[in-house]
Amino acid sequence: MATAPIGVLGGTFDPVHYGHLRLAQELGELLRLDEVRLVPSGTPPHRGAPDVAGEHRLAMARLAAQGNARLKVEDREVRRAGPAYTFDTLEELRAEAGGTRPLVLLVGADAFLEFATWHRWHEIFGLAHVVVAHRPGFPVGRWSERMPQPLAREYSARLMQQPLAVHLSPAGGVVAAAITALDISATAIRDMLRAGRSPRYLLPDSVLDYIQTHRLYS
Ligand code: ATP
Repeated sequence: MATAPIGVLGGTFDPVHYGHLRLAQELGELLRLDEVRLVPSGTPPHRGAPDVAGEHRLAMARLAAQGNARLKVEDREVRRAGPAYTFDTLEELRAEAGGTRPLVLLVGADAFLEFATWHRWHEIFGLAHVVVAHRPGFPVGRWSERMPQPLAREYSARLMQQPLAVHLSPAGGVVAAAITALDISATAIRDMLRAGRSPRYLLPDSVLDYIQTHRLYS
C-alpha cells in the first residue's frame, strides 16, 4: 500500500496559471510528493462566485495538468452541492487514504494569512500538514507578526524546519517554503483578457486556447 504523502492544492483556478503549476511542481519536488491533487473549488465560502463555471475551471485544470504524472485533478468540490470547504475535502481524503498516510495541504502565503477565517481551520491541522509557499506581494519576513494571534500561535508551535518531516507523521506540522517568485494572479489574467490584452506566457497555451474557444472572461 502506498504511504507517500499526498499533496492537495485547492483554489478557484479561475483560471489556472503558472503560479499554481510552479507551486505544485516545486513543493512536489521539495517534499517528495508522488501526487499533487489540484482541487478546483465549487462555491468558495470566502469570496464572491468565480467568474466561470466549475466545469470550465475543471477543464482548464485538466489541460494544465496534462503530461505531468505527478498532477491529478479532482472534481469533488465542483460536484459537491453547496459550499466547498477545504475541511470537508480533507476529511474525505483522510477517510480514503487511511489514518497513517500523510496529507499535505499546499497554500500560498496570501491564503495562509486568511487561514484563521476558514471553516474549522483549527481541525485542519488534525487532518493534514500545511505547507506555505512564498508569494510575491506577501513578504514572509517576520510575517507571523501579521497573522492574527491564534494563527500565529499555531504557526510557531507547529513549524517544522525540515520539509521532509511531512513524511514522518500523518498531519499537524507547518512548513514554510520559498519557491520561484512568480507575480502571477488569476485576477490579473482576467483583467488582461477583459482589456483585450493577452495573458500569453502567464499560463499554458492549452488553457489560453480553451479560454478563447469558449469566449471566457471577455
Ligand atoms: P485570484 O487572483 O482570482 O484571487 P489566485 O491567482 O490567487 O486567484 P487561487 O486559485 O485563488 O489563485 O489560488 C490557489 C492557491 O494557489 C492559493 O493557495 C494561492 O495562494 C496559491 N497561488 C496562486 N498564485 C500563486 C503564485 N503566483 N505564487 C504562489 N502561490 C500562488
